Amino acid sequence: MKKQFAVIGLGRFGSSVCKELYHLGHDVLAIDNDEVKLNGVSDYATHHVITNATDESALKSLGIRNFDYVIVAIGDHIQSSILCTMLLKEIGVKKVWVKAQNDYHHKVLEKIGADRIVRPEHDMGIRVAHHLDSERIIDY
Ligand code: ATP
Repeated sequence: MKKQFAVIGLGRFGSSVCKELYHLGHDVLAIDNDEVKLNGVSDYATHHVITNATDESALKSLGIRNFDYVIVAIGDHIQSSILCTMLLKEIGVKKVWVKAQNDYHHKVLEKIGADRIVRPEHDMGIRVAHHLDSERIIDY
């Protein structure tokens, strides 16, 4: 079933999520405050807008509350990621998934109500270890 996604922050992680969701046939709104980053996904998003995702009125004017999922993929700017996540939950977005940069970031995101927190390198490291472990069992 087609869903409405908004992806905020189009670094390597955010742009990859954005492109894949679009290829899977979903509606995707791509948001970044950097025009160059935004241009990189313009062919892989239903809509794209230059916006500061820490500006509450700007988020509201995008109708962000109506999206099924909002993915916050601002990693390096931890303060912006936290503020943006807090605003999204205050506005009433039901599902907010956020990329965390480190343990401290993860802890704060939990406290302010992020629905799912992902740590791409950390999570993938664990998956790879499990794959390697299952290969060991098969090899045996
Ligand atoms: P990745 O590791 O996924 O490549 P990154 O660490 O290289 O991410 P970040 O610096 O975390 O990239 O930022 C991700 C994106 O978020 C950038 O494209 C940046 O322009 C965007 N961004 C940062 N702050 C804001 C903001 N306040 N509003 C909108 N976009 C923002």
